[in-house]
Parts: sequence; C-alpha cells; structure tokens
Amino acid sequence: MTSKKQRVFRFAPSPNGYLHLGHAYSALLNFDLARDCGGRFLLRIEDIDRGRARPEFEAAIYEDLAWLGLDWERPVRRQCEHFGAYARALERLDEMGLIYACDCKRSDIARATAAQAHWPRDPDGSPLYPGTCRTKPRRPAREVLAKGGVALRLDMRLASTLAGRGLTWREFGDVSPSLRGGVVDEAIQARTHSSGLLRCARNDGEGTAIAADPAQWGDVVLARKDTPASYHIAVVVDDALQGVTDVVRGKDLFEATSLHRLLQHLLGLSAPNYLHHDLIMDEKGEKLAKSVASTALRALRTRGWTPADVRRRIGL
Ligand code: GLU
Repeated sequence: MTSKKQRVFRFAPSPNGYLHLGHAYSALLNFDLARDCGGRFLLRIEDIDRGRARPEFEAAIYEDLAWLGLDWERPVRRQCEHFGAYARALERLDEMGLIYACDCKRSDIARATAAQAHWPRDPDGSPLYPGTCRTKPRRPAREVLAKGGVALRLDMRLASTLAGRGLTWREFGDVSPSLRGGVVDEAIQARTHSSGLLRCARNDGEGTAIAADPAQWGDVVLARKDTPASYHIAVVVDDALQGVTDVVRGKDLFEATSLHRLLQHLLGLSAPNYLHHDLIMDEKGEKLAKSVASTALRALRTRGWTPADVRRRIGL
C-alpha cells in the first residue's frame, strides 16, 4: 500500500503591525485544512524588512494566534535568520545570467516612464522597470550584495525564455476571470463552504491548472538596496525548504504566484498547490489594513470578542 504524502500548510505573517480579521481568516483556514487533512501547520515570521519588523508585533502574533486557539510547530522559522539561504538562491540565478545590478532611483524610473503615455504597470501598480541598467556591464551578485546600496533585478525576458511556455500551478481557489485582478471586493466567506472550496482543497489532486504569466512583473527587484532579499525570493526558498505542499493565502497575492512559479522553476524547487482566498472587507467594503487599530484582533478582544465571535464573523 502506498502511503499518501503528508500535506504541509503554513501561515506567514510579517511582524509590521497587529493581526486583523483578514489574518485570522488566513491563519484559521490553513490551520483547519491542515487538521482536516491530517497534515502539518507551520507558522513563519516574514521579517526580512528590518526597517518595518518590530519585536512587539512578533510577540503579538504569537499571542493573538494562541488566543484564537491555534497551535504550530516549533521552532518557528524567522526569515531574518536565513539571509544566507536567500543569497545562495540569488547567486544561482546570477550564475544563469539572469540578474543584474540596478542603481536607479525611484525618480529616475519615474522620469524614464513618464516619457510615454500609459506606461505599463505591474500588478502592484508600479511602472514596469524601463530596463535602464539591463545592458550595463554585469557584476557578480555576491559582490553587489556585499557592497549594498544597489538593487538586484531579474532579467525577465531571459528568464521567461529559459522557462519557456507552459508554466502552470494548481489552484484550489475560485478562479473566475474577474478575480484575476488581485483584490476582490466580495463580502465575507459564506461561500467558502458553499463553493466547495474547502472540500476541494482537502482532496489533494483536484483544482484548476492556472497558466503563470510572470512577464507582467517586468524586471522585478529580487534584492533591495537596504534588504538583501525580496519577499519573492524568500517565500519560494522557504516554502521549498520547509516542504510546504499547500500555500493558502489572500487573493491579493494571486498575481505574485506567477512570479513565484517562475522562480521555483529556475531554482529547481517543487511547486506547491495554491489556494488564494477572498479578502475580508470592513463595513465600508474596504480591505482591512494593519494601520487601522480598531480592526486589530487585540482591539476586538479588548471589546469582549471571543475566538468563536471571530470565526462567526469570517464564516469559518
Ligand atoms: N508575509 C506575507 C504577508 O504578510 C504573506 C506571504 C505569503 O503568504 O506568501 O502578507
């Protein structure tokens, strides 16, 4: 008898603010799925942005998740302790001739892209990099990272050519075309159950194949002037290193998955399944923000909410 591979889920918050109902939804969905599949649930602290990460927010993450009734494996992976692993991945891409140093300032890019009306933008809304530094003589990534002060970009045209067409991922979420825009404005999750989304995700092997479209990101930054790894490189390295089989996260990261698939392919990393869930909105139909203190889990707790109230509000 062949034993089925144990599935691994993770919740990966950034400690740059207090968790709100949207985080609770993501964390509980991962936790419930792991439990229902007999799988593992990991918590990962995504704190590569040393300018914004704060110890009190990390402590609050542990406290809020424990209050919600979650339990996770120890030790918790903290990205700030693994910059070496991300640097090795960058060096690998460098050896393939796929990255280059860029010392453009934001104002340089704004000037270059203002010359043309309707300059294309990436899914985050930033103008696509005009390629100013792409043709400059290349320096080894190791050297660039050691010196700092310069960003490393992926040469998207080369990378896409190398990867070829046909990169896909398996998506358990709702993939109607209207949702491909990123942020979704539906109300809460009653349909999580009705759409059969959870049933589908529990059943490894189902889902829809989605064609990755990494070119929409242009020559994306993989290491910043002040941070030696971007979210994109750290997340694919960690998901692979931690053996994550299922990435369950918000629809605001749907488009990023195209880029993550490309990086996984280039780095020879296995591809997890994905489920991009709806975002929890506030009463005005707006996306919840860490900067709005009143929607933080701890604020709700102070107002007398229980974990059961949280589950009821988010439909889980
Ligand atoms: N750290 C990211 C965030 O807090 C989530 C990344 C992911 O789930 O891939 O938005």
